[in-house]
Amino acid sequence: MSKHLLKQFLIQVWARFLYHTGAWRLVDRLAPRRLLILAGHCVDDPLVNGDLPAHLRIQPQHLESLLRALGGRYPVRTVAGGLRTLADPKGPRGVVALSMDDGYRDNLTALPQVLAATNAGCTVYLESRVLTDGRTNWGHEFFWLLGRGRDSCEAFARSWVEMDDSSEAGLLFQDLLSRGAADEYSIKKVLKYHCEPKQRDAFVRQRFEAQGGDGAGLCRRIHLDSEGVQEMLGSDVGAASIEAGGHTRTHEVLSSLSAEDQAQEIGGGRRDLEELFPGACGATFAYPYGRAWDFNPDSKAAVRAAGYEAALTTMPGVVTQDSDLYALPRFMIDDSTQLHMLVAQAAGGFLLLRRRT
Ligand SMILES: [Zn+2]
Repeated sequence: MSKHLLKQFLIQVWARFLYHTGAWRLVDRLAPRRLLILAGHCVDDPLVNGDLPAHLRIQPQHLESLLRALGGRYPVRTVAGGLRTLADPKGPRGVVALSMDDGYRDNLTALPQVLAATNAGCTVYLESRVLTDGRTNWGHEFFWLLGRGRDSCEAFARSWVEMDDSSEAGLLFQDLLSRGAADEYSIKKVLKYHCEPKQRDAFVRQRFEAQGGDGAGLCRRIHLDSEGVQEMLGSDVGAASIEAGGHTRTHEVLSSLSAEDQAQEIGGGRRDLEELFPGACGATFAYPYGRAWDFNPDSKAAVRAAGYEAALTTMPGVVTQDSDLYALPRFMIDDSTQLHMLVAQAAGGFLLLRRRT
């Protein structure tokens, strides 16, 4: 068994032990106070998000059962609410927050019902160009093209090379083709990290349109527009609550941009949201993609300068009182997420291990 598999196995055994024996209650008292922030994208609604990859979606029934079971143990808040609870010396030992990235339409059509049924709060992180210009980022046009086989990976890479065989991306695509390794994952990686953004956006858009894609229509189908966001923020969710948060203007990998361009993406995105939703643009921000290499110290400085109180990554972990407020970890959820793992995380089961070793 490889080291990675062994580690995964031990994590599973520990989480199941804590959950099934009730030992999570003891761990909860011993572990430092904590906030577990869950991160999702779409609540599955085939009419609006059927084109998106499965790892971005969670069935409403599954989300509801996770939130109901967690909610029986810990309060489930918005991200700002979770941070306030963590900072309150009289607060509970553990708190959970839910977050959904990118402002998908199902956050209005399917999410509020789940929140109302479970008394859970949620923060929805919004990409502002979707709201101001009705334009989604290149990634969704790319999913539309390749995810349903409307375009082939080989043809996509070959066509890029015909246009450009000398840039870093051009050379990488040639290499992928020569090794027969031009699959969706590898192509996406080149597009994300090794391209000039304007060139990439124009190329993807042109192939998308050549296959009959309608950019404005796709954006409208999968994302909320500003009226939809207003409606979502005003939804009747009973004792629960929904708040907005910032997620840049165009969902670019921030670490690939200059400090000035990052300030435009982050600060400009916040101004857009403030104009659209005065007083309700949210206090927290989520880095697009969110891995450690997707943002840098300039991103953190721009988030702070824009007036956000905290920023979230997609690096796994649990927030404690000594976490870096501008690089908070989250725990990704989808249909494969298991309750025992969330309970073990929320109880601080893994924080305790880290402290003892
Ligand atoms: Zn995102």
